[in-house]
Amino acid sequence: SKPALSRLLDDAASATIPPPERLKVFLRIRPLPERGCGKAKAPRKPKKPDLVCLVASGANSVALTVPHSKLVDPKRGRTEVFDGFSAVFSPDSSQHDVFTQVMNPLVDEFLGGKSGLLVALGPTGSGKTHTVFGTPRNPGLLPLTLRQIFTATDESSKGVTVIQPTRSFCLSMFEILSEGKGERILDLLSDASDLVLQQSTIKGLKEVFIESVADAESLVSCGMLKRSTAATNANNKSSRSHCIITIRAVHENADVESGKSLSNAVLTIADLAGAERERRTGNQGTRLLESNFINNTSMVFGLCLRSLLEHQKNKKKPLEKHFKNSMLTRYLRDYLEGRKKMTLILNVKPGDDDYLDTSFLLRQASPYMKIKYSPSYH
Ligand code: ADP
Ligand code: MG
Repeated sequence: SKPALSRLLDDAASATIPPPERLKVFLRIRPLPERGCGKAKAPRKPKKPDLVCLVASGANSVALTVPHSKLVDPKRGRTEVFDGFSAVFSPDSSQHDVFTQVMNPLVDEFLGGKSGLLVALGPTGSGKTHTVFGTPRNPGLLPLTLRQIFTATDESSKGVTVIQPTRSFCLSMFEILSEGKGERILDLLSDASDLVLQQSTIKGLKEVFIESVADAESLVSCGMLKRSTAATNANNKSSRSHCIITIRAVHENADVESGKSLSNAVLTIADLAGAERERRTGNQGTRLLESNFINNTSMVFGLCLRSLLEHQKNKKKPLEKHFKNSMLTRYLRDYLEGRKKMTLILNVKPGDDDYLDTSFLLRQASPYMKIKYSPSYH
């Protein structure tokens, strides 16, 4: 048997090194859209229930049923369970529920000096923008994050005995959109509209100091106004662009001698454009080009994560350089190669009509849960 000292050392090592963490994948199911407005049909009896193909089947799992409307599909009526989500939010969950589970850990780590990223993924109309921005009466993850950051900072500055380095925050907000066959970066906080991406840095992007929640929220509202939206048949307000917000912590009078990390941590939130199938949205011309861009970006995003997973499973497999193939993935390279920590929230619609999109997304994203972060990520 092992000498006692060696066993002791092993025990000490396993006690101090936390196990690798998995990439967190959350799933939020939005409520079914309200059925038609205006003239109500005479109620039929028994009332036909709304057709739903996706339900939460546990705290971490969903059950997806092939709809009966798929007339010739031999699998219709069959149910498949997707398990292992960090949490599943059913249609009645609140923005606050989502914030507490999804964002709070990222905010805590950010205030502790680590960068983090939240990405909202899903088809158009599935609730990504609702989740990230929400409405004035029902604020989403970004406004709730800003409130949390200022509350936490105010509280820590009340501890008068410890002199803390003063920290302030900067916000930037931009979108990546398609133009013809190319991509373009539009600053949502300035008039700059053709910014250059070098490595993972956007040259000339405006960063604005935010001093209060009110400051930050009015800045975000201005940015939202600027965010270009265009109508498609699928969703009149669907945003045909990726919208990215960063909050950067800046240490003003950091105490160098304390040896504390002075890294300027960045918290990033990305509200991605939806990847829908062209046939269904009836896209044509420019819209079709944009739609190809969106689908291409989500494909590249997926390829990056799959390559990272393959590489982690078998170190002999190189990390493919898929990230080079779209601006979004170039910008997020550190996260897509596992050097910085990312959290995903998948937004889905539960209706029978959405079965194909939902099924595609669940199959595509399930393997991502196996991606690991070593405890030394930053
Ligand atoms: P996406 O950004 O994924 O295209 P949106 O966030 O714009 O989708 O949502 C489409 C519509 O559905 C919006 O009118 C939004 O208010 C509504 N919606 C989405 N998620 C929810 C939810 N969880 N609760 C209530 N309404 C929602
Ligand atoms: Mg949107």
